[in-house]
Amino acid sequence: MTNTNLFLRFEQICKIHRCSITFTKEDGPYYLDGKRRIIFCPSHFPTQKWKIKVFCHELAHHFQNSLDTFKPNNQNLSELLTYELDADRLAYFICLHYFSEFKIHHRTYICYQNREEVDFLRRWYGL
Ligand SMILES: [Zn+2]
Repeated sequence: MTNTNLFLRFEQICKIHRCSITFTKEDGPYYLDGKRRIIFCPSHFPTQKWKIKVFCHELAHHFQNSLDTFKPNNQNLSELLTYELDADRLAYFICLHYFSEFKIHHRTYICYQNREEVDFLRRWYGL
């Protein structure tokens, strides 16, 4: 699959779930709750598997926010970590549904497991 086709598929999936995706050169990836929009910078992720993994994670945040299942207290690091891990667990199933041919292993879906990543999350939320 070409990257162009992959990005088209991202857009189609977003449309199904009533959100949108904006491709950028530098900014992202993250989910803008108020705008129901994924901000995504493909160049940060060299492989298609990695792009897909990250896209599914951001789409999972859209589901979390749309369904109101769990919104973290943005001042509480452990709640934020739970929110991120839940997103990754959900992302695995989103990935199975939409990108099963890529065979991305479930072990890939464990975000914020090391200190650098947790520090990044802390900085992102200004904690
Ligand atoms: Zn996340």
